[in-house]
Amino acid sequence: MYCPFCRHPDSRVVDSRTTEDGTAIRRRRSCPECGRRFTTVETAALLVVKRSGVTEPFSRDKVVAGVRKACQGRPVTEDQLAQLAQRVEEAVRASGAAEMPSHEVGLAILGPLRELDLVAYLRFASVYQAFQSLDDFEKAIAELRLQGAQN
Ligand SMILES: [Zn+2]
Repeated sequence: MYCPFCRHPDSRVVDSRTTEDGTAIRRRRSCPECGRRFTTVETAALLVVKRSGVTEPFSRDKVVAGVRKACQGRPVTEDQLAQLAQRVEEAVRASGAAEMPSHEVGLAILGPLRELDLVAYLRFASVYQAFQSLDDFEKAIAELRLQGAQN
């Protein structure tokens, strides 16, 4: 890749190590042209299979966009959305699968979203678990009450 400082088209790897969680490799690189150093991170490509069968790279931005809709009018910050997306990516990567149906990505969002905001969780769950009626909402709310949810 290009040196981010001088755009020289080549660089030398001076150090290479696996991240603590084992899902990425961090390489320290040195530019032979300007001598500056920079870091690259290498991760396995993670593909999401959409209902149509089309695959696309996993994107935290898309997770955030989907959750943001459910969070409209709720006291949820952009930072919290970014953290949630990071947790979802970690969960999805931890599954070890190179490809994952978009529906399962949606399910991976439910846990962290429930901790973040219960109303947003119910909105999101109603879409991803295809709630059909008020009964489905009542059941989901009863479950939350059973689990001692407070807000
Ligand atoms: Zn350079």
